[in-house]
Amino acid sequence: MKTLIIGEVVEGKLSSGALEIIAKSQELGLDFEVATVGTEESPNIGSESFKNTYLKCNETQLSLGSVANTLKTMIDEQSISLIMAPSTYVGRDLIAFLSVDFSSSQVSNVINFSIEEGNVITSNSINGGESEYNSKITSDKKFLLIRPKSFEEVQVELSNTNYETIEINSEDLEVFDIFIEEKSGPQLEDSKIVVSAGRGMVDSSNLSLVEDLASKLNAAIGGTRAIVDAGWMPYSQQVGQTGKTVKPDVYIALGISGATQHQVGMKDSKYIIAINKDEEAPIFQISDLGIVADTLSIVPKITENL
Ligand code: FAD
Repeated sequence: MKTLIIGEVVEGKLSSGALEIIAKSQELGLDFEVATVGTEESPNIGSESFKNTYLKCNETQLSLGSVANTLKTMIDEQSISLIMAPSTYVGRDLIAFLSVDFSSSQVSNVINFSIEEGNVITSNSINGGESEYNSKITSDKKFLLIRPKSFEEVQVELSNTNYETIEINSEDLEVFDIFIEEKSGPQLEDSKIVVSAGRGMVDSSNLSLVEDLASKLNAAIGGTRAIVDAGWMPYSQQVGQTGKTVKPDVYIALGISGATQHQVGMKDSKYIIAINKDEEAPIFQISDLGIVADTLSIVPKITENL
């Protein structure tokens, strides 16, 4: 089945979401190629093991409509029938444009897929991860949005060669201001250890305890939507259904109840440690190690003893 994987350039290289879909496509033996959207000059997105086309946009123009037109031409010319993108802002926009262009439905929040007798069969997560359903796509063109961290990334050497570049020009929208959030320390999506805080840290001033622990462990810091909504932490650090999905080796939940909307973003972590003063807290149901204690007294002690 001819397949197109839509990727993005993130920090100068091919996005992890695309690398995850590539791994799954290789496992299934699909005949695939990649189209990568970005604005950087010569990013590291090329590999000898797959064909990649770089759709280079102008930094000051929001040209996803024009990117979608270029993708449509590729899909038509090469009779591609399966089109997949990671479920990011760009992926969602492009799949939406294309599914309208081809009058086909898109299947969102896909956590696994297979090819059976020429059909694409998907597993999808719904109700904040509480339920799953399977679907068979019967349309000619099949559009899938894949939930990040559903598969392990393919291990490939990426370089700034081995790809063709197409310049995308559009004057539909002009960007006149760009704000880039400053990032420091380990990043949520890549870190082997994540320390996350919830309302059980009691007050935003106590987040310094979380920072001290994270710093000792060289861990990234996350949080629940409750504390993001309360303004304790920026949205970029929110873990869960409407935030980021993480899959670290160790996830430490401090004062987090473990609502399903939070669990959906962290339950696939390899080892989960939870500290909560309520022994009935749902987070303990998915924890490998549960500590019933007051975060404010135990977290400094753990940090001190590391
Ligand atoms: P709470 O549920 O209030 O839990 C606080 C916990 O701290 C309690 O278990 C309590 O026992 C414990 N505690 C209190 N004091 C202490 C102490 N001193 N020591 C130890 N433990 C203590 N949430 C997310 O996190 N991410 C999402 O992406 C997300 N998306 C959502 C999408 C939708 C559509 C909806 C409806 C909700 C979403 N939520 C999300 C919100 C989610 O339902 C919960 O409200 C939220 O996760 C709760 O955050 P919390 O655990 O910090 O707070």
